[in-house]
Amino acid sequence: MIRITDIVDRVLEYNADSDIDIIDRAYIFSARVHEGQVRLSGEPYLSHPLEVAYILADMNLDAVSISAALLHDVIEDTHATNEEVQQLFGDEILHIVSGVTKLSSLTFENAQARQAESIRKMLLAMADDLRVILIKLADRLHNMRTLQFHKEAKRRAIARETLDIYAPLAARLGIYWMKRELEDTAFRHILPTEYAEIEDRLAKDKKEREAYVESVKKIIREKMAENELECEVLGRYKYAYSIYQKMKSQELAFEDVYDIIAFRIIVKTVPKCYEALGFIHSMWKPIDIKFKDYIARPKPNMYQSLHTTVIGPAGERIEIQIRTWEMDRVAKSGVAAHWSYKEGQSVDEDASHKFAWIQNLIENQEITKDPDEFLENVRIDLFPDEVYVFTPNGEIKTLTKGSTPVDFAYLIHTEVGHQCTGAKVNGRMVPLRYELQTGDVVEIVTTKNHQPSKDWLKFVQTVKARSRIRQWIKTQEKDRSVSLGREMLEKAFRKHKLDYNILSKTDEMEKLAGVFGFKRVDDLIANVGYGKITPLQVVRKFVPPTQEPESQEDEQSILHKIMGRVRNKKSKTGVLVRGLDDILVRFGKCCQPVPGDPIIGYITQGYGVTVHRTNCVNALKMNPERGIDVEWNQGPDQTYPAKIRVNSTDRVGLLADVAASISKFNANIVSANTTTRENHTVDSMFTLAVEDINHLDKVVSALKKVKGVLGVKRIYN
Ligand code: MN
Repeated sequence: MIRITDIVDRVLEYNADSDIDIIDRAYIFSARVHEGQVRLSGEPYLSHPLEVAYILADMNLDAVSISAALLHDVIEDTHATNEEVQQLFGDEILHIVSGVTKLSSLTFENAQARQAESIRKMLLAMADDLRVILIKLADRLHNMRTLQFHKEAKRRAIARETLDIYAPLAARLGIYWMKRELEDTAFRHILPTEYAEIEDRLAKDKKEREAYVESVKKIIREKMAENELECEVLGRYKYAYSIYQKMKSQELAFEDVYDIIAFRIIVKTVPKCYEALGFIHSMWKPIDIKFKDYIARPKPNMYQSLHTTVIGPAGERIEIQIRTWEMDRVAKSGVAAHWSYKEGQSVDEDASHKFAWIQNLIENQEITKDPDEFLENVRIDLFPDEVYVFTPNGEIKTLTKGSTPVDFAYLIHTEVGHQCTGAKVNGRMVPLRYELQTGDVVEIVTTKNHQPSKDWLKFVQTVKARSRIRQWIKTQEKDRSVSLGREMLEKAFRKHKLDYNILSKTDEMEKLAGVFGFKRVDDLIANVGYGKITPLQVVRKFVPPTQEPESQEDEQSILHKIMGRVRNKKSKTGVLVRGLDDILVRFGKCCQPVPGDPIIGYITQGYGVTVHRTNCVNALKMNPERGIDVEWNQGPDQTYPAKIRVNSTDRVGLLADVAASISKFNANIVSANTTTRENHTVDSMFTLAVEDINHLDKVVSALKKVKGVLGVKRIYN
């Protein structure tokens, strides 16, 4: 078992100024709270954090990392609390320890391999401090080293997860030795027979093999020196898992995996690569089909090298890679590009940049040995634009940062989005505008026939949600405009003794749509509904101009009177529908609002928006979901009909006095109707054209002063 002194010695070796005190205190605290706990191996639990800390010390990490490693399981597995850790060791260590705890709380048992990439990204996204990931990896490495103490099923599950998630993660970070060990250990537990077989065969003639590698390297070196080509020659064994992968993917027997030892020649320039290739080929016969020029044709992940397989000195095949130092560097940090490449998308420049940078950091850490510089760079936000959340089935979904349950719902399915009425996050109901956090489990509540709300556009973040909601609104508006346009056309056609419904089914109508520049008849009708084309323009195409019964102006104004609808863009109704252009507005016949009255709009099937007074009985009966904000936006010289009832005693000349009083205030009488009651009073109903509510009030107060008038009241029907 590793002792704390081993760790401290190791740390002092690479940084004599390390804060040993904090490491000691972390050790003592960890020993105290883990006391009595035992690993499956029978060892005291404390051996685990010690081993993890030692792995990190071996990677030359700073004292904070080492301390956090010693404490990494105290919150999850002991009675120790966040507050204690914070008080004893400060915010930084607490932050790292709780980061590791958070990662450990995620379970990927139901995860499928295809999700592995998302899981890796999620882990990286949750670890906002690189040290969290490094501790997690070291933790997994030690757990893999002691995996034999678990039951078989558990062992296989953990090994599988390691292969899918943690080994690639180590590779992403450029910690190749860890990737190899994780893979080989996992391989040993998942396929013990295959593993043992490969290991046996590798061990069999290990000595001979090593001698052989040295002899080949020597021959190559001499050949290059002879030709004054400066180079470095490397020879390396593949490890068990990579040999197995090659056997499997290329259906080879062990004997046929000829590149178990790969040789690499590194030179200064590209021309020297081809020179070196020439010398190799002049010495050993190449196998033509095995020659690959990745310098002229780089791999998509930017990998460059010459690969050749030759018949070596003992008649065996040898794989040789030739590259420049620069290419060697790219090949090693090329995992960043590889990441993007694997996603099957274009190379994510930003991500590759970040990973190249992390790799540099880890590689250079061994050289620079400057813990301060390392510290400055450990705080990372690898995916600042994304959040990763779970479906109730444990599937991971990636969303834009700031996304809401509505975005999530549309990501699942457009219909789920449309019918989304609520959401549960981690089992609790949240508002639809809740901002999703990485790690959230999201469940969408849907209601059949529910429709999306325009308000959602104010908070959704994803392109998909936005476009689906917009599309839905557009379709709705078009449907309304089509039925309105059809109604308007029917009326206009009837006036010209034409039957729209018959004509609309003829080819003529289709041709006509083309004349107006539309592909479909529906588009033409919708544009009539929008008010962009008048019905008369359409009718004219069927009737010669001389047969028109009325001028266009008359037609228009009559139409307006009949329909009571005009386009809001020109503001002829004097009402604005917030956020919507091109929508048809008309007034409810029931309440006749005038400017100044509080109003509300209702979306009606096929009629655009109908405006009522807020407290109109009919408005109150409307489905509030169809309600829409509207406001007055009166143009000059616009008037509105308002109904009043004047109750007065019956006298000669009364009506004349009332009319005079009304016209004194420039209000026109649209209609009048008088009823005499039995008690010699008269009820006169007037419909006046007034500008707004003030105008009406003035008229009403003037009327009240007319001799014989008992009362004046506005009537809303
Ligand atoms: Mn642990």
